[in-house]
Amino acid sequence: MRKGLAVNLKDHIKVYNIFVALFSGNRCFLCANRSEGHETICPACLDDLPFNTTACPACAKPNATSRLCAACLNHPGSPGRSGRPGGFINKSRALFQYHYPVNHLIQCMKFRQGLELANYLGGIMGEVFFNDGSRRPDCIIPVPLHRHRLISRGYNQSVELARPLARQLKVNLDNDSCKRIRNTVPQSDLPAKKRQGNVRNAFSVAEGISYSHVLLIDDVITTGSTVNELARTLHKAGVARVDVLACAKTI
Ligand SMILES: [Zn+2]
Ligand SMILES: [Zn+2]
Repeated sequence: MRKGLAVNLKDHIKVYNIFVALFSGNRCFLCANRSEGHETICPACLDDLPFNTTACPACAKPNATSRLCAACLNHPGSPGRSGRPGGFINKSRALFQYHYPVNHLIQCMKFRQGLELANYLGGIMGEVFFNDGSRRPDCIIPVPLHRHRLISRGYNQSVELARPLARQLKVNLDNDSCKRIRNTVPQSDLPAKKRQGNVRNAFSVAEGISYSHVLLIDDVITTGSTVNELARTLHKAGVARVDVLACAKTI
C-alpha cells in the first residue's frame, strides 16, 4: 500500500472511531475503548494529548521557556498597537497545541454531538486556570458568533467550553454584552496578513458594562486577531484588563 494512502486510511479509521464513540456511549472519544470510569477521553488517550505546557504568556504560542516570544518582544504593540505585548490582551493561555488529535476534537465540538466533549474540555480548561494561579476575572465572555452562523450551527462551541469554567470559577458567564455584528469570512480561510483586517470592527459591546477584568474564551487561537479585536473593543468600553483562555493554539 502506498505510504500516503496508508496515512489517509489511518486518519479515516481514527475519525470513524470518534464517530462510533460519539453514538455508543461510555466510550473514549479517541480510541473508542470502553471507558470504565465513564470519562469522555480515557486516561491513556488524555496522557497522549499535546498539552501546551510552556508557552509565551502574551500570545500562548508554544515555546521552551514560557517567556515572551520573539514576536511579542520585538513588536510590543502589535497587532493592536496598545503598548502591551500581544496587543490588547494581558495574558493568553491555551490548553493544547493544535496538533492531531486535538484538531479533530475541535471539529467534533462544532457538531451537536460534540456538546459533551465541549463540556469535558471546558472542565479541564478550568483546572488549568486554577493551577496557573491566574487572577479570577469579573466575568467570562465567550467569543461570540454572528447570529447567522449561530443559527446554522445551533450553538456556539465557545459558550459550551465556557459554561463548566464559569461554574468552577464561580463567576458570571456573560453571553449578552458582546455581539458579533459583522458576519466575517472564517479566519481559517484567509492568509495570516488578511486576518486582522477581516475582523476589524466585527464586535460591539453593550453600553454601560462595568467590568474591569474580563476572561475571553475561544476554541482555537490562530494569529490572535479575533480575540485581540474583541479585547480592543472591550478596552474602548472601559475594561482595564482582558485575558484569554482557549482550548488550543496553532503553532
Ligand atoms: Zn482512549
Ligand atoms: Zn508571544
